[in-house]
Amino acid sequence: MRHIASVSFGKDSLAMLLILIARGYPLDEVVFYDTGMEFQAIYDTRDMIIPLLQENGIQYTELQPKEPFLYKMLERPVCKRGTKIIHKYGYSWCGGTCRWGTTEKLQALEKHCKGAVEYVGIAADEASRLEKERKGNKAFPLADWGMTERDCRKYCYHKGFKWLEDGIELYSILSRVSCWCCGNKNLKELKLIHRHLPKYWNRLKELQTKTDRPMKGEGKSVFDLEQRFLKEKRISEDGDIHHGGARWIKKNS
Ligand code: SF4
Repeated sequence: MRHIASVSFGKDSLAMLLILIARGYPLDEVVFYDTGMEFQAIYDTRDMIIPLLQENGIQYTELQPKEPFLYKMLERPVCKRGTKIIHKYGYSWCGGTCRWGTTEKLQALEKHCKGAVEYVGIAADEASRLEKERKGNKAFPLADWGMTERDCRKYCYHKGFKWLEDGIELYSILSRVSCWCCGNKNLKELKLIHRHLPKYWNRLKELQTKTDRPMKGEGKSVFDLEQRFLKEKRISEDGDIHHGGARWIKKNS
């Protein structure tokens, strides 16, 4: 039976892949589903790994969505359920209960891996995901090895994979390196993207100008969030100035 590792080039699936190879597990193919909206650091990691796959005679396959992500997000005519009446264009932000990108990704991977053993990089401490995914011929080596998310990150860092974007390690500001425009990113992560990755923040703003739905719900468009983050920054800087001033007075009185 064929053995395929499903790899997103994030920390968990990458750790799984490196260990599968190092320990000589059966592995015929690596499959990566490219949404087209990955961070550059993910593509850089992929490019570092492809030669290793070639050296080990492992086939590399890249899958893509049937229609480009941005077309589906912003332009695709969407009809009212059960009718042919177009009521909007594009599904808007992907995430939460409307994870149209994930649905397509999972279906494509399932179809591709049909009849093979599929290695999936879910860590030992992701109990609910493991429970949900345990079906068919899927194998979960990280769980079998007792490797947690933290272990995977440590292992990859040790092997020299850091997911750098403009000098920032992505895993120092994000819990998951998923699509840069993912609606599942929480406010803390978005605040850190605003602060450290202006290039991606500007891309988020550009997307927000093209869709009516605010990225994080009512009153939380990318522009609303930007105002909020800037205000918080000003308050914290004012606090620092006052705090510093008080210390100065005390020191010199
Ligand atoms: S990572 Fe987020 S944006 Fe990308 S496909 Fe999954 S839910 Fe959608």
